[in-house]
Amino acid sequence: MITIDIQEWKEAGIVQVPISMAPPLRQVNSYLLRGPEGITIVDPGPRTEVTENEWEAVWKKLRIHPDDIISIVLTHHHPDHYGLAGYMQSLTGAAVLMSRRAFEEAERIWGTGSTMDVALPCLFRQHGMPEEWLQQLPGHMNSFIQQVTPSPRVTFVSEEAPVIMGGRSWEAVMSGGHAPGHLSFYDRKGKTMLCGDAVLPQISPNISLIPDSEPEPLHAFITALKQFEQYDVAMAFPGHRNPFDYFNERTRILIQHHEQRLLHIEQLLEQQALTGFQACEALFGTRLSIHQMRFAMSETLAHLLELVRQGRAAKEGDEGAEIRFRAFQPLYKLL
Ligand SMILES: [Zn+2]
Ligand SMILES: [Zn+2]
Repeated sequence: MITIDIQEWKEAGIVQVPISMAPPLRQVNSYLLRGPEGITIVDPGPRTEVTENEWEAVWKKLRIHPDDIISIVLTHHHPDHYGLAGYMQSLTGAAVLMSRRAFEEAERIWGTGSTMDVALPCLFRQHGMPEEWLQQLPGHMNSFIQQVTPSPRVTFVSEEAPVIMGGRSWEAVMSGGHAPGHLSFYDRKGKTMLCGDAVLPQISPNISLIPDSEPEPLHAFITALKQFEQYDVAMAFPGHRNPFDYFNERTRILIQHHEQRLLHIEQLLEQQALTGFQACEALFGTRLSIHQMRFAMSETLAHLLELVRQGRAAKEGDEGAEIRFRAFQPLYKLL
């Protein structure tokens, strides 16, 4: 017997459907909106046998026929949000909406001809990651392919045109940093924001440097958080944890968190030059799963590069050699 803790947010006209995913997060929020145009599902979750069964149970409980579902809207390309889209499209015939940038990223990482299982270890090797971790990366990266197969036929959404969900018009708001082409959806009348993983309560969204993707992810993330300040949000519906009513405050807390983290890393570099992996170890330790280690390493690199961008650290190492970061010593500090 499958029990799903479906929550109805009547005022916002949104049904929250927690769908299972791997630890440490364990659950991703899908949202269901009903309108005269039909039913929309936002971020259906990763594809596993468990989640397929969970959705079957949800549709039964809510008396939904697959044909009632007219659109599947995706905030971003991560498997825990995008994964089921293609499979669900095959059951419902629904249109799948996401940004072009996000779809390109999905195809680049998991599409045929993807080289991410080689490119990511190569990047991490340059930043000092030991072989015992590097060896685990290709298998780990490829394990996600089954969670995102089949890939959907996508209709691209942009910030120029609103998306209709639940009988209401939603503005698409693009933000970088967590995932390129990430879209949040804002209902100006209801002051409601469906924010995916762009802003999360309690958790700091992962900021990742990955090969050939956003070159300055932390800068992109902070810029996006500042842009979110212009939206008057009464209730935010995030990709993980529970809906929350302090969206604008949360964006400021996240900016502070990253500023403190940057300062901490800068202080570490003032003691000695470090590789990305050494900095990662100092921040997160090594008692991590390969999944956690990948996120920790990508996030550390994002911070180190932000220090370089801000002129607070320097990157040393020739092409092919191991790269080290050292604190940039302004002249007045040396005198
Ligand atoms: Zn994500
Ligand atoms: Zn997520």
